[in-house]
Amino acid sequence: MNNELLNVTGRIFNVQFFCVHDGPGIRTTVFLKGCPLHCLWCHNPEGILRDVHLSFSENKCLKCGACANVCNVHKVTDGKHSVDREKCSLRAECVKVCPTEALSIVGRDVTVGEVISDILKDKKFYEPSGGGATFSGGEPAMQPEFLLALVKSAKAEGINAAVETSGCAPYGVYESLLPYVDSFLFDCKETDPALHRKFTGVDNALILSNLRKLHSAGASILLRCPIIPGLNDRDEHFRGIAELSKELPNLLGVEILAYHRLAASKSGRMGLNIQDEYEPPAQELVKEWNDTLRTYGANVFDA
Ligand code: SF4
Ligand code: SF4
Repeated sequence: MNNELLNVTGRIFNVQFFCVHDGPGIRTTVFLKGCPLHCLWCHNPEGILRDVHLSFSENKCLKCGACANVCNVHKVTDGKHSVDREKCSLRAECVKVCPTEALSIVGRDVTVGEVISDILKDKKFYEPSGGGATFSGGEPAMQPEFLLALVKSAKAEGINAAVETSGCAPYGVYESLLPYVDSFLFDCKETDPALHRKFTGVDNALILSNLRKLHSAGASILLRCPIIPGLNDRDEHFRGIAELSKELPNLLGVEILAYHRLAASKSGRMGLNIQDEYEPPAQELVKEWNDTLRTYGANVFDA
């Protein structure tokens, strides 16, 4: 193994083992920190901020005051807990004394070598299942040097590497990854440019351009479409997705990612106030969406 690559450092917020929805087979998913988008429905709000930060779960808090006794960033008054994150220095004294794990520090700096040894723990499951490692986020391409070192090192160990991306990074980053990435899980959040800006905070021109360039370069791409009831479950959007699927015939397919509620509670923990609550769709509705896409000619990927 190349020691120079193994010593590259980056920031992650989780390594999740035995994932079955992040690409083919059984996978280990590594979540990198930082994202240029702020999707209203973000499934992984821990990944949005590049900084390490304090997470607080209101529903686990006993209002015992132990955190306030060791750090004046916390206050417990009249049976209410409050935290002034601006003043938090991440000393984590509060985390150590909290009896219910209501507090935690999100994000840590690691070397590529540390991540690869985690990934190798489940190597025996990858080959029989067609699995491997998925690098996700946040937006993993926000840490291009770290991501490149990760995929190169995974390949050197014979591990299938997938990258889950919003597509919102300079094309050069994707181009450098191409020889080492087995598949891209590429998000298509909204096909209407104005609505894309409204829902995610960024324009989709660069994203679509990257998608087309990666497709032309022969990348294996699964187009993943988060569908949020009341936001982008519109007929025009389904038509737009189908048009993209027809324009890019070598896509592995189009996969709908149905909204779930977990993310809204997570963003509150981080002190982020970016999410509304949406109604999670019933399975029959998701089936209807898939049928609509098929009717419009999309190559729907059934996991
Ligand atoms: S120590 Fe934990 S449970 Fe007690 S008040 Fe602080 S956050 Fe809540
Ligand atoms: S691209 Fe992903 S991580 Fe970034 S804000 Fe959107 S859903 Fe969250």
